[in-house]
Amino acid sequence: MAFERPDIIRPPSEARSYYLPLTAGCSNNTCTFCQYYGSKLQIRDVDEVIAEINALAMYVNNNIRIPGMPDIVYWIASDWDGKGIFLQDADALVYPYDKLRTVLEHLNEKLPFVERVAIYATATDILRRTQEELEELRRLKLGIVYMGLESGDDEVLRDVKKGITSVEMIEAVNRVKIAGILTSVMVILGLGGVEKSERHARETIRVLNEMDPDYVGALTLLYVENAPIMREMTEGRFQTISEFQSLKELLIMIENSDFTNCFFSSMHASNYLAVRGKLPREKERMVAQLKSVMEKGDQSALRPESYRRL
Ligand code: SF4
Repeated sequence: MAFERPDIIRPPSEARSYYLPLTAGCSNNTCTFCQYYGSKLQIRDVDEVIAEINALAMYVNNNIRIPGMPDIVYWIASDWDGKGIFLQDADALVYPYDKLRTVLEHLNEKLPFVERVAIYATATDILRRTQEELEELRRLKLGIVYMGLESGDDEVLRDVKKGITSVEMIEAVNRVKIAGILTSVMVILGLGGVEKSERHARETIRVLNEMDPDYVGALTLLYVENAPIMREMTEGRFQTISEFQSLKELLIMIENSDFTNCFFSSMHASNYLAVRGKLPREKERMVAQLKSVMEKGDQSALRPESYRRL
């Protein structure tokens, strides 16, 4: 079956990167809230990836287009900052290790000016790699791994069928850090619904503190068509939190954070309020910003529901 290039889903910080697909879909397609739920994982042929790198290098270095290469390659290249490469898709670290190394070696050879390669990974993908393999990937410029913790509460993780425990996710982040690769961990406000809202927030920050990552990105639960949590909601088995409850979760996390040096952000377009800053340095300012909006019940400070998106 021919490889189908996936839609571009990437962290906000990779907006100017070149999006190079290695896979499409997610190897762990069970999470009940996710747009990848039920997706079928496709592994792209390594020769196809190499051909795309060659075409990109030819275009960037000589402004020559290779016949037969899809237009999207040049469309992405035209907005590329020339520094970052983001390997698609939802968990590209699942790509077979030898092939991943071949791709990174080729990238380094053809585009030596690239500064950083980024990737989404599940904790299972990370734990499948040895420490030496992770270090080799670092040497080949894998500079940041984005991993979804979603919740630090194991009960919530079981409810949403994440398929892994918080302890395993802490171990995965530690392994990446030891390899010298930056870590960015995503959490989802509202994932425990109304019933588990407070414990979801408290357990999540407890686990994040143990991870002590370089970046934390908070998202807010959005209903995705065909995701099972959508059905749970319409059948009344899952009660979604309000905008202000999502701010309360954010406040619990920031107030109870104990990071060494972490950039914490709720800039993602799914959130009702964008708060960002370095923790612990800017904790006071971030807490004050949240409390001010919450105490005033200031709806006008929040992103309107219809503007929230993934
Ligand atoms: S949350 Fe992550 S692991 Fe789960 S289905 Fe979505 S992309 Fe895959």
